[in-house]
Amino acid sequence: MSNLKGYTGKILEIDLSTKTIKTTPLDENLAELFVGGAGYACASLISKINKDTDPLGPENVIFLMSGPLLGSKGICTGRVVACSKSPLSGIWAESNTGGQIGVQMKRAGYDGILVHGASDQPVYLEILDGKAEIKDASQLWGKGIEETTKILKTPEEFKLGKVMAIGQAGENLVKYSIIGCEERAFGRTGLGAVMGSKKLKAVVIKGSNKIELASPDEFKALVKEVNTAQLAVFTAQMFGALGTSGGINMYTLTGELPVKYYRTSKFEEVDNISGATIAEKYLKKQRYCFACPIGCGRIIELGKNDLEVPEGQFEGPEYETIAGFGAMLGNSNLESIIKANYMCNDLGIDTISSSSVISLIMDLYNNGKTITASDVDGLNMEWGNMENVYQLLNKIANRSGIGDVLADGSDAVGKHFNVDPEQIATIRHIEPPYHDTRSSFGMSMAYGIAPHYGASHCSCDMYQTSLGQAHSEMDIQSIPALENSSEMSKHSARLMEYRAFFSSINMCVFAKPAASNLAKLIELGTGMPYDVERIKITGERVLSLKRLFNLKMGHSPKDEKLPKILVTPIEGVTEGKVPDQELLFSEFYKYEDWDPITGMPSPEKLERLSLTKYANF
Ligand code: SF4
Repeated sequence: MSNLKGYTGKILEIDLSTKTIKTTPLDENLAELFVGGAGYACASLISKINKDTDPLGPENVIFLMSGPLLGSKGICTGRVVACSKSPLSGIWAESNTGGQIGVQMKRAGYDGILVHGASDQPVYLEILDGKAEIKDASQLWGKGIEETTKILKTPEEFKLGKVMAIGQAGENLVKYSIIGCEERAFGRTGLGAVMGSKKLKAVVIKGSNKIELASPDEFKALVKEVNTAQLAVFTAQMFGALGTSGGINMYTLTGELPVKYYRTSKFEEVDNISGATIAEKYLKKQRYCFACPIGCGRIIELGKNDLEVPEGQFEGPEYETIAGFGAMLGNSNLESIIKANYMCNDLGIDTISSSSVISLIMDLYNNGKTITASDVDGLNMEWGNMENVYQLLNKIANRSGIGDVLADGSDAVGKHFNVDPEQIATIRHIEPPYHDTRSSFGMSMAYGIAPHYGASHCSCDMYQTSLGQAHSEMDIQSIPALENSSEMSKHSARLMEYRAFFSSINMCVFAKPAASNLAKLIELGTGMPYDVERIKITGERVLSLKRLFNLKMGHSPKDEKLPKILVTPIEGVTEGKVPDQELLFSEFYKYEDWDPITGMPSPEKLERLSLTKYANF
């Protein structure tokens, strides 16, 4: 049992090569320094993973880690993060999921689950209130996530449990495969393939322990106050009513929505695929992650249909998926996006990377006429041809035909078809989410510099901050979206540090508690003295540590560059303006005190952040 409240004090460690299971104590020094989540996981993994570690080899490790407030009612802290070395980028892999899987892990008695090694036969992990077992999964191998989940929840004791599982894509080591977690997923950086390489099909968890907090009554009172304030925020109301795609109409006005592989920002049919249209036609209810008062998830129902999607209720698409399978493919048919989303969730494919890869194929087919149907297994890839998109998704998940190339990501497609790398929309091999940097210059740093390069709009969501959502107690100002200035770099750096803290407390970036209230929640939950200054220094520490991890993997500042296609001026509302990478990135480096040649944080900074020992590689 931990001396700190909120934590369970235990990490479950599984070695799939030797089939051994043990419980190790939570390292309280790391919890004090990094709070939990991605920061804690990185401090643990940096000594276990090396430059020559094959992300899909048994030596790679995957760490599921919670924050101390997971399991409490602390606003939007019902999340858990999965970390590893990414098979797509070769550097830091991190993906954060909501839903309910994290709370089951915590209630089962574990702050985290660390998986080493690889099994030679398919297995799954069964965890029930402090007891874990490795079980044969040969009957599950080859099945989609939906069926796998259903089967694992059949036994009475797991009916109310939760499942995380890979689909065919993870089994076939698709480099952007996901780990599905029922309502949500660990979607980015290819963690499904890491699980697949370990022949770990799924984890089913049921827990019933209570999480002990330091000052439960005061904590509860503050949660009530914070939630009430949250629900008065406009974006919370919009996300609740319309989901994350509630802003898509506005994004066409600001140029944030990329269209047809970043060639334009004009998409006149946007109303057909908006959050309002989903709400009007198909929304049945909101989906809330554990401890969330906002509920941006969409439970939809199409009724009888010939799309081969369920007649009953299921998870609807969110903004990134709608942008990816809609505007990026020149497709304004909402039902086809719902179907593509459903397929990706079941096959276990990241909707951002897959839609970007397919958009690239359509760009090559339609714009430059570089490829023809004969290059893509006879498929006609005209913009908006969704029947053939479904075929490609199946091919990707099963690595059949051209799907074997697409399964390795956009850069592999570019290489296969001999495309100029500057015309491939990736950063460090990862396809970015759909918040166009030309409409929000701060996002160039989110995609170009954040530790899981290109993968995350949540690592520095300047697209929200530049719209007026400052974080005043954190000294993060709302800088005008199209400003190339050292102020933009400074406030983006501060936001990235704040979000690094969020990645460790595992809080959803749509939650907007005042930083002082967040600190108070942590203090009342854990018993650790916490204030805004401690949030700031912990965020800075976590960001710097993830950077050290990447430098250890061989990453260098030269890798931090957006390709031309993402910064080519386009007509429209942004009037041809683009982020000045040289200025923004060099000012960011100065603010962070990183060496411009090596990328290394200065020795003084490492010392101040207690990170010196992590820099010896
Ligand atoms: S706002 Fe949405 S993603 Fe965030 S915790 Fe709530 S339901 Fe989950």
